[in-house]
Amino acid sequence: MQFNGIDFDTYFNHYPDKNGYFGRYGGVFVADKLKAAMAEITQAYYSICQSRKFIAELRRIRAEFQGRPTPISHLERLSDAMGGRVQLYAKREDLNHSGAHKLNHCMGEALLAKYMGKKKVIAETGAGQHGVALATAAAYFGLECDIYMGAVDIKKQAPNVARMKVLGANVVEVTHGLQTLKEAVDAAFEAYSKEYNDAIYCIGSVLGPHPFPMMVRDFQSVVGIEAREQFLDMTGHLPNTIVACVGGGSNAAGLFAGFLNDPVDIYGVEPLGRGKALGDHAASLTYGSEGVMHGFNSIMLKDAHGDPAPVYSVASGLDYPSSGPEHAFLRDLGRVKYDVIDDNETIDAFYKLSRLEGIIPAIESSHAVAFAMKLAKKLEHGSVLINLSGRGDKDLDYVIEHYGIHD
Ligand SMILES: *Cc1c(COP(=O)(O)O)cnc(C)c1O
Repeated sequence: MQFNGIDFDTYFNHYPDKNGYFGRYGGVFVADKLKAAMAEITQAYYSICQSRKFIAELRRIRAEFQGRPTPISHLERLSDAMGGRVQLYAKREDLNHSGAHKLNHCMGEALLAKYMGKKKVIAETGAGQHGVALATAAAYFGLECDIYMGAVDIKKQAPNVARMKVLGANVVEVTHGLQTLKEAVDAAFEAYSKEYNDAIYCIGSVLGPHPFPMMVRDFQSVVGIEAREQFLDMTGHLPNTIVACVGGGSNAAGLFAGFLNDPVDIYGVEPLGRGKALGDHAASLTYGSEGVMHGFNSIMLKDAHGDPAPVYSVASGLDYPSSGPEHAFLRDLGRVKYDVIDDNETIDAFYKLSRLEGIIPAIESSHAVAFAMKLAKKLEHGSVLINLSGRGDKDLDYVIEHYGIHD
């Protein structure tokens, strides 16, 4: 399929290019020392991850350990409640082992680490979800695992810190600056630059320097590939529209990868939080501008000094001041449309899906559900497939404390 001069039949052969660019976005903006480490990972990715042996082992792990393929559920009662003209469906990444899509790329990254002969995986975490997924993968493969986390986040995210420790990870407290995600990223990269002979950095989304945006997308693309086949089997046709929430953009990139070459409308949903003022949301693709941070060029939210701006939303897993370079590219092309959902719409969707379908979604995923609900009310007919990126058990205490139990 041709779209704005891009041939999507061969898209994955050309994007990213060999320097890690999706059009003008992406690249490798790191210190020279780390450039060599990135080149090593890139080369290993191309040689190892395309090998039959690696692919066969990852397939086996997905089936035997992760519980893949995850099903698609037809959300009949929710569809009816929205007027019944449009049928809503959910790809159930909440049923992936450990409760979210993040394990898809963590198992891939950790398996690559094993094939490369590395002994340790290193990462940062904010809300702790990536830390838990990586600690799970490290335990499975018998790798050491250092997770860098700001002291403020460690206090806020006690259950995830406990999960990481039970899984055997070493949680390294970062105590400088604001003691949150940004400092944790810096500290983790600093540690990695000293340890890259024995360790590999495992990024938590389609972010960071090349090859991570490509690698994480490719590992997540299992979601879109499965979903396309399952949806065809179930209904005999493709969905008219697919929807996913976008923080860094990994669950969205995974779902979208299965449908970019199809006549399907694609939406990425960003968190509008409390509103449009800088600091009240994390909608980088909607309100941001071009810049470089954390090793890559993309669209980002900047403060008055041009540094990454503070961000907020009800979903801590979406609170990142940029999004992956491929999303910036697909936005400019117009192939994917990006829109926003605020905190209140999100909480309403969280309760609607719980009450009408018996599925408690992650607050992150609830952004995609809320957007699909709006579409279902607006459109005359058709079908919408939502990527239900994770389950909401982790969010129950927060939602009840801040919003109470809804009717
Ligand atoms: C981390 C997380 C997200 C956001 O990350 P992406 O890279 O944008 O997918 C979304 N949903 C859940 C459940 C998460 O844990």
